[in-house]
Amino acid sequence: MDDCIFCKIARKEIPAEILYEDGNTLAFLDIAPVSHGHTLVIPKKHCLNIFDIDSKTLHAVIDTVHKIAPAVRDGVGAHGVHINSNHELAAGQDVFHLHFHIIPRHEKNEFVFWPKVSCTQGEAMRVGEEIREALSAT
Ligand code: 5GP
Ligand code: ZN
Repeated sequence: MDDCIFCKIARKEIPAEILYEDGNTLAFLDIAPVSHGHTLVIPKKHCLNIFDIDSKTLHAVIDTVHKIAPAVRDGVGAHGVHINSNHELAAGQDVFHLHFHIIPRHEKNEFVFWPKVSCTQGEAMRVGEEIREALSAT
């Protein structure tokens, strides 16, 4: 993946503020943070997103998220974190190399992360049916 920006960071071809690294994963600060300490965790292996990654690599990434989230929170004196990941354009994925965001939150932060839609019980039942059906087809 010669022109993938996160592969370049993993290969140390372009600079990043690296926080943690092991054989399979890398954690570094986001260049345009939502809040101070906004961290990205990536597999070193190029995978597009959740629809592309193998389970062993995904587990390694989640292990790193689990390992460093407390340090990201404590390092910036935050009270919590968002752990977020966007998959495909429709979900706002910008960089097509799988990554998890760790975004520190402070009790008095103002921004709201998720807008909500209304969903009746009937709609929830119908959506539940559709997803279970899709699941049984996998
Ligand atoms: P996405 O929208 O794909 O979930 O998030 C991509 C993230 O990567 C964005 O938050 C963006 O600021 C960050 N980003 C994009 N290019 C670079 C880069 O070259 N270096 C770093 N450290 N972060 C980047
Ligand atoms: Zn890549």
